[in-house]
Amino acid sequence: MSEATKTPAAGGRASAKKELPEHLKAYKHVWVFVEQERGHTHPVSWELMGAGRVLADKLGVDLAAVVVGAKNDDTQAVVRETFCYGADLCYFVADDILKDYRNESYTKALTDLVNTYKPEILLLGATTLGRDLAGSVATTLLTGLTADCTALDVDAEGSLAATRPTFGGSLLCTIFTLNYRPQMATIRPRVMPMPDRVTKPIGRVVEHPLGLVEDDIVTKVLAFLPDRDSSKSNLAFADVVVAGGLGLGSPENFQLVRQLAGVIGAEYGCSRPLVQKGWVSSDRQIGQTGKTIRPKLYIAAGISGAIQHRVGVEGADYILAINTDKNAPIYDFAHLGVVGDAVRLLPALTEAFSKRLS
Ligand code: FAD
Repeated sequence: MSEATKTPAAGGRASAKKELPEHLKAYKHVWVFVEQERGHTHPVSWELMGAGRVLADKLGVDLAAVVVGAKNDDTQAVVRETFCYGADLCYFVADDILKDYRNESYTKALTDLVNTYKPEILLLGATTLGRDLAGSVATTLLTGLTADCTALDVDAEGSLAATRPTFGGSLLCTIFTLNYRPQMATIRPRVMPMPDRVTKPIGRVVEHPLGLVEDDIVTKVLAFLPDRDSSKSNLAFADVVVAGGLGLGSPENFQLVRQLAGVIGAEYGCSRPLVQKGWVSSDRQIGQTGKTIRPKLYIAAGISGAIQHRVGVEGADYILAINTDKNAPIYDFAHLGVVGDAVRLLPALTEAFSKRLS
């Protein structure tokens, strides 16, 4: 139900905004759904608090956090934390039924909150949970949802401008939900900068009942098995990332990336063709259809710097590129470029760091 789209270059709306029906005019304020599981908050929630603050300030409205979970100290701590990330108030649905995520109960909690307190914008992380929840909440509320956004803004008329890649990533498209409320969007982790945490006393908390009993819910949680797979990547949140591309020439040479990453305590990643060739697992792919990263240092070896790769790495503080082609696009946005053969340079770096760090 998102009605108007435009590419930024095209400018102007494809369809005009209608006068909002009377019952939708009451929708005000920006909300961020704070994703937490057993007291552990997904960092994207705080990134969205930062983005939500910008939108709320532009609109001159409040920024509210929404916390849904079990009635216990862990969830209370998450509520307190929302104020440290800029919440003006926090809507809180606490019920032991909500201890584990289930679509039915969380959809009920969030849609009831929206119908009661009427936010004009509702943001969720584009995580597994956030994507599942946002879709069912938008469908239940009969409103628009722009999924997997990479940028957010409000236009001159105060509508949410939600930008996301489209046509296989060849275009960026800005989507408006002009005639329905709330305007909903999911945003990819690490796309928005993490705001500073400021120690603050707890602010206004609005508690709301769930209005469900266990028998109302079809899905049952039989066991909770935490994901303990340590081989899984933590690319999105790593401080240092070393990545390799097709320029490495073979899966054997990709080991040079892993070795350097191992020595300097970095995560390793790759460009998309290496995943497509089966050299590296898909959770290591960096870029538009992979992970977005924001490390302090990004070392890219044998990667050309195509736009679909660039969008995933340009939030890095410092980019070091190693490429044999001095005209490679990666040099347009790298902070330091070494024109040379990565297959020779990577082992030399690994050896130098091993000596220095041993
Ligand atoms: P290439 O473009 O082939 O570049 C290899 C580079 O290595 C060249 O610049 C070359 O000069 C250099 N080189 C060669 N030999 C050496 C050597 N010995 N030492 C050092 N340098 C050397 N790509 C992504 O990465 N992530 C994505 O998420 C992503 N999503 C996409 C989504 C869509 C819809 C589409 C259409 C494409 C997507 N791509 C993505 C692919 C992207 O367009 C590029 O094709 C890809 O990033 C190129 O990978 P590469 O840089 O490893 O390979």
